Amino acid sequence: MDAPSLLAWYRAHHRSMPWRDIVSPYRTLVSEIMLQQTRVDTVIPYFERFMKDFPTVDALAEAPLERVLERWSGLGYYSRARNLHGAARAVVAEGGFPKDVEGLRALPGVGPYTAGAIASIALGLDEAVVDGNVERVMCRQMAWAEDPKRIKARLWDKAREWLPAGQAADFNQALMELGATVCTPLSPSCLLCPIRAGCAGVHAPDRYPAKEKKAAVPEAVAVAALLRSEGRLLLARRPPTGLLAGLWELPGALGDDLDAALAARVGLSLVEATPLGTVTHVFSHLRLHTTVYEARTAGVARADGGYQEVRWVPSADVDGMALSTLTRRTLRLGSAPTTTPRTPAAKRRPAPPS
Ligand code: SF4
Repeated sequence: MDAPSLLAWYRAHHRSMPWRDIVSPYRTLVSEIMLQQTRVDTVIPYFERFMKDFPTVDALAEAPLERVLERWSGLGYYSRARNLHGAARAVVAEGGFPKDVEGLRALPGVGPYTAGAIASIALGLDEAVVDGNVERVMCRQMAWAEDPKRIKARLWDKAREWLPAGQAADFNQALMELGATVCTPLSPSCLLCPIRAGCAGVHAPDRYPAKEKKAAVPEAVAVAALLRSEGRLLLARRPPTGLLAGLWELPGALGDDLDAALAARVGLSLVEATPLGTVTHVFSHLRLHTTVYEARTAGVARADGGYQEVRWVPSADVDGMALSTLTRRTLRLGSAPTTTPRTPAAKRRPAPPS
């Protein structure tokens, strides 16, 4: 590994990012948690808004979880927001950030990678990091064709061996930046690579690392209802644990029976429903097809079937609620104000006597 060449390239070419321009353990923690499974250009506006709302770890620790989830809304993988909030509270309870990797790893949601990133980038410690980008660069440099999941320990040992003393912050970020911009998964730009000379995989980079075969994701269907009343929309709050915990959504359920879903989960009787369309959303474990209906119901809404709460929310306030990306997509299907039920394909039955 030609660390001096890699460091020189990084210092000349790295992209400007808000968490790189001003560095602190708190900013590194927030950015690294946000960057888990999310692209840099998606994260930047969320990070900047988050820093305005919660400029310090104390501000985040003091904020109610509901508000944190609102600011996270649309970023996905909401357990990250809950863990981040828990980590901020743990840091404040301990009187400050831990001073080593072991202490950092004890924080909720902080694994070896995030702990290494905070320790090296924000605390200046000689600690390695290995993320997906670093794995790819390393496997190509070493011509290691195995699945990185099977050689974790070897990758971490090699990353520690490569670390130039006292320069872990820039070196780690350089490896990650190289993987993100030059040594990319498809068509790496080897001719522009600062560590090309020592690369054992340069003649066939596509062979490294081994590509794992992904198992087919199971599919499921669900129904959801847009229920309006006097400029308000009925939203239901999901259970405090499990998928999309604590977020608000259009009332509905797994399966294709809207009638049964509304009765079981919000205590309402379906009067009329018009399908607006189907949203397909891919979770890490499930591909979910949700059919959204504009609907009219009878009865008084109440939380049931696992929901924590139901609320008639003024339409202008819906956007500010803690909503998942899936719910935002389902809402878009009904974004045209509808006061008169549509008739084609509508499911109709007589209104119950009042
Ligand atoms: S030479 Fe090519 S394969 Fe090797 S590290 Fe550089 S970009 Fe990756």
